[in-house]
Amino acid sequence: MADLDVAVIGAGFAGVYAVHAFRSAGLTVRAFEAGSGIGGTWFWNCYPGARCDVESKDYSYSFSPELEQDWSWSERYPAQPEVLRYLNHVAGRFGLWPDIQLDTRVTAAAWDARRSQWSVTTDDGQQRTARFLISAVGCLSAYQVPSLPGLETFAGRWYHTSRWPRDGVDFTGQRVGVIGTGSTGIQIAPEIAAVAEHLYVFQRTANFAVPNRNAPLDPDWERAFKADYRSYRKQAQESFLGVPITGTGRPALAEPPAEIQRTLMERWQAGGGMPFLGAYTDVLVDRAANEIVAEFMRDRIRETVTDPAVAGQLLPRAYPVGAKRLCQSDDYFAMFNRPNVTLADIRSAPVTAVSARGLHTAESYYELDALVFATGFDAISGALNRIDIRGAGGAALSDAWAAGPRTYLGVVPAGFPNLFVVTGPGSPSVFSNMVLSIEQHVEWIRDCVLHAVGRGHATVEAKPSAEDAWMAHVTEVAYATLFPLADSWYVGANIPGKPRVFTPYLGGVGPYRARCDAVAAAGYEGFVLG
Ligand SMILES: Cc1cc2nc3c(=O)[nH]c(=O)nc-3n(C[C@H](O)[C@H](O)[C@H](O)COP(=O)(O)OP(=O)(O)OC[C@H]3O[C@@H](n4cnc5c(N)ncnc54)[C@H](O)[C@@H]3O)c2cc1C
Repeated sequence: MADLDVAVIGAGFAGVYAVHAFRSAGLTVRAFEAGSGIGGTWFWNCYPGARCDVESKDYSYSFSPELEQDWSWSERYPAQPEVLRYLNHVAGRFGLWPDIQLDTRVTAAAWDARRSQWSVTTDDGQQRTARFLISAVGCLSAYQVPSLPGLETFAGRWYHTSRWPRDGVDFTGQRVGVIGTGSTGIQIAPEIAAVAEHLYVFQRTANFAVPNRNAPLDPDWERAFKADYRSYRKQAQESFLGVPITGTGRPALAEPPAEIQRTLMERWQAGGGMPFLGAYTDVLVDRAANEIVAEFMRDRIRETVTDPAVAGQLLPRAYPVGAKRLCQSDDYFAMFNRPNVTLADIRSAPVTAVSARGLHTAESYYELDALVFATGFDAISGALNRIDIRGAGGAALSDAWAAGPRTYLGVVPAGFPNLFVVTGPGSPSVFSNMVLSIEQHVEWIRDCVLHAVGRGHATVEAKPSAEDAWMAHVTEVAYATLFPLADSWYVGANIPGKPRVFTPYLGGVGPYRARCDAVAAAGYEGFVLG
């Protein structure tokens, strides 16, 4: 008899909800979390400026109408401390703390075929057994520090944004370098520029960013919105991105140029990435349509940044807009008008070394007191690959995923019985409002487990042929879009040696949910229940 029905790895949005969902279904469950607090992304990424880029009304659990009504968000786009408070509130409100074990990293998990259970090893030397193992390790939790020669000799302090000191960092009067200009670099740079003596932004790729137009939420608006929250959530579940947005429903290429400019400007003024990119149906599938939107965004940079040479360096040209995660910021580009900010192009003059007092590039030397890596994550598969997971016959998950991570339906890797991955490769995951996708996955997994247990099955396995067919479908959908054209973390391009495979499912959140539901309704088609 296993110690637990369900072991969960991680206690971010996914792990916290998994504990609630399985416990409410009458199963014994325990989540093991490496951090000293819950919250995952919102626990670790406590750097200045960390903020959600999906609106708070969307980026929140929908499973409890009472929670939804009682909790009030202060802003349109909540900052990291508020999201973390929310998750702690949820854990308290639903009494989840007894089933969450903090400061405990899962180091290995092995399938015991004879007993039909997982044996889970943690870094405190303990072993627990569980009938089902749920990975809630996060798509963006295995952080990545580039290997720069000489970093160990740097006399100043260096930081990765995803392991930010919990009591903050005071950069007052310092010369600070930020490496990385993706979503996080764009958020943290203006905060550092406001206090540092000088900020050097080391840019390899110029990125697109739309304004947030963040603002406090008006209580009257909130009351009116909450009156119809249920039907709004339903629309979100059926939508493409997990957020109901209204596009024009027309292709840009069929629209008069002046009308395109008017529409884009209207959405630019309203703020937010999803409504902006979703304005026209062809932006993410047609190069020419994409270029119209890209040029509109470049124009906004040109009119914001006063030095034309700096503006020129900031113009994104390396990839179609949207093919990398679209950044959101109200103040990033304007920051380059400050006298204490310098943009350094490390595409043309790469970083060659770090020495005791600064950073060397192929062309220059920058004296620095502190260095900040906003260099992101070994996304989607990184956190799971860092655990020694052994499935049927002792096969390693890292070997099964050597040519790229794969699952059936974005949730179950073939060859790993009773292992479920929340927002796994092949699911909409990072290409969606993730809280909504997490809820959908956790509920689907719970129902699958209850289905198996209720019928006396000990194992749930994905058929290899079902996995092959699903991943072929994921690839086919992706290659009908512009996404694979970018060297992004979506394809693993930020990790040296990682196979280039596009694994997020781009078929849309609503259609994906329908597909998962149809598989369940057909008695878990593509699975073997043993
Ligand atoms: C800075 C930032 C901003 C973001 N903003 C948005 C946004 O606006 N909208 C959006 O939809 N998404 C956003 N995301 C994506 C975000 O990761 C998800 O929305 C969501 O928080 C993921 O929740 P999760 O529980 O799946 O994973 P995580 O929050 O990453 O939690 C995973 C947890 O698992 C733990 N863990 C990992 N390995 C182990 C192990 N071996 N043993 C024990 N514990 C382990 C980690 O410590 C972590 O706490 C953002 C991500 C980042 C990094």
